[in-house]
Amino acid sequence: MATYEFRCREDGPFEVAAPMGSAGPRAACPSCGRDAQRVFSAPMLGLADRRLVGALDRAEKSRDEPEVVTSLPPSGGRRRQRAAPPNPALSRLPRP
Ligand SMILES: [Zn+2]
Repeated sequence: MATYEFRCREDGPFEVAAPMGSAGPRAACPSCGRDAQRVFSAPMLGLADRRLVGALDRAEKSRDEPEVVTSLPPSGGRRRQRAAPPNPALSRLPRP
């Protein structure tokens, strides 16, 4: 289902939920029943964080086309990093 926006001359904007691609250029206003013109507005993609949108796109794509690893990563390319720098307070503790 997709949400389509229409604007009635008398009652203002309203939304209609319909299967994607099935909305026509006009719809009946739920308040007065007159024909209302369809309004095309930009999706709110510009408001979202690009990293979040990228992650959502990858998650969506992985449903049908999961990324498959076919070989090992090149050796020596990336080394393991420590999770956190050592705590200097721990160096003062007595050693066995
Ligand atoms: Zn109306």
